[in-house]
Amino acid sequence: MTNPFEDFDANLAGEEGKTTETKTSWFKRLKKGITTPSSEKKETPEGLWSKCPQCNYICTINDLREALFVCPKCNYHHRIGSNEYYEILFDNNEYTELFDNIRSKDMLGFTDLKPYAKRLEESWAKTDLKDSMRVVVGKISGHEIVVAAMDFEFIGGSLGSVMGEKFSRAVDYCIANLF
Ligand SMILES: [Zn+2]
Repeated sequence: MTNPFEDFDANLAGEEGKTTETKTSWFKRLKKGITTPSSEKKETPEGLWSKCPQCNYICTINDLREALFVCPKCNYHHRIGSNEYYEILFDNNEYTELFDNIRSKDMLGFTDLKPYAKRLEESWAKTDLKDSMRVVVGKISGHEIVVAAMDFEFIGGSLGSVMGEKFSRAVDYCIANLF
């Protein structure tokens, strides 16, 4: 099976992500995907309730989504992920993710309260984000636009190892396709 992810570190060394380490982590991810279907953990269940942290107003997630995640009672702006943001921004909620085949790595073998590699694993298991930045292309009022947004869900939006690469590719994409 070919690895659909680019291993940025391995690419730098010209190995195209075929190192043992890359393979091991990819298989770990596959295993996780099998035991916990992504539809179960990543999407908000229908009819789930949300409580406003400012005024305690309770409504369904769907109602909150209709109100663009602004509390209908007190105007409090709920925190949203990049996908929710893009759904609001783009015409007909339609957009395409770019460069989602590259993902963050623990280049330094860093540990604070827990190993960074573990934080990465947890982020991948909990969300569909592979890095702190999600780059997409779509139309806003008919104009084609590329947006690169940080996402809090990925370790609090902290800088991942491929964020610069994704941003740089987003700029290249604009030069090649939009201008
Ligand atoms: Zn409120």
